[in-house]
Amino acid sequence: MIRRSAPGFLAVACVTFAAGLALAVEAAKGVNFKPGFNIFSKDEDVEMGKQAAEEVEKQNPLLQDSETLRYINRLGMRLTQYEPLPADYPWTFKVLNSRDINAFALPGGIVYVNRGSIEAAEDEAQLAGAIAHETGHVVMRHGTHAATQVVIAQVPLALLSGWLGQSSSAVSEFFQVAAGVGAESILLHNSRNSESQADTIGTYVLYHAGYDPHALAQFFVIIEKKDPTRTIQFFSDHPNPENRIQAIESEIPQLGPPIQGKTDSLEFEAVKKRLLAMPSPPKKP
Ligand SMILES: [Zn+2]
Repeated sequence: MIRRSAPGFLAVACVTFAAGLALAVEAAKGVNFKPGFNIFSKDEDVEMGKQAAEEVEKQNPLLQDSETLRYINRLGMRLTQYEPLPADYPWTFKVLNSRDINAFALPGGIVYVNRGSIEAAEDEAQLAGAIAHETGHVVMRHGTHAATQVVIAQVPLALLSGWLGQSSSAVSEFFQVAAGVGAESILLHNSRNSESQADTIGTYVLYHAGYDPHALAQFFVIIEKKDPTRTIQFFSDHPNPENRIQAIESEIPQLGPPIQGKTDSLEFEAVKKRLLAMPSPPKKP
């Protein structure tokens, strides 16, 4: 595994940001479970995710409540057992102490769920849908796939071939070119196509884990209605493909025979109640 320096990581974050913008204009394509071309290794996904997590956690307060964390990790780990793709990542599920309704994932399996998402979900299945959507970004390796696309588009072939040959001078040369952009870019600006794929995986995981497969679409509907101002961030990090909800609904019959999926749990209700009773999150600097 190539160890990348922090500037190296920033560079990748930079190209990911650009890739997100480029891909956002691409129309949603047919969805499948085949991850896009990727020049990074899965170990590098993990490494880049760890570095990005340091940035995320410098800028966002984590919720340090062992009961909530135990619950969210148990739920998240259970969901990852039903991925349609290999899911052998060192998964970690964390809660950010923010009332914005949002969730996001870093390459390699670190998933952040905002406190606001748990508070807004009406039942466990809706929360599970949002988490399963995020795990979909991880197993499809969307972050490093987007970075790959920009590397291919922008790096001269000679440099790229040197880099792929793991010449360390080529690596640092490339990274120097693109350094200097906020590291959090790697986790934002998913393309519409990536969003559709993550929705499909989220719904697939819900169904196979025995949850009501309509719950992800329901979550989008309720958060849009419930509090549009706190939801803006969710839909800007997760661009809203046209007819997203209809697209999810139309895929459900293809998953298999209808099931009477599980919707709620006592644990979810207890954690939600606990969060709602906690002091308001600190204001972001
Ligand atoms: Zn997403």
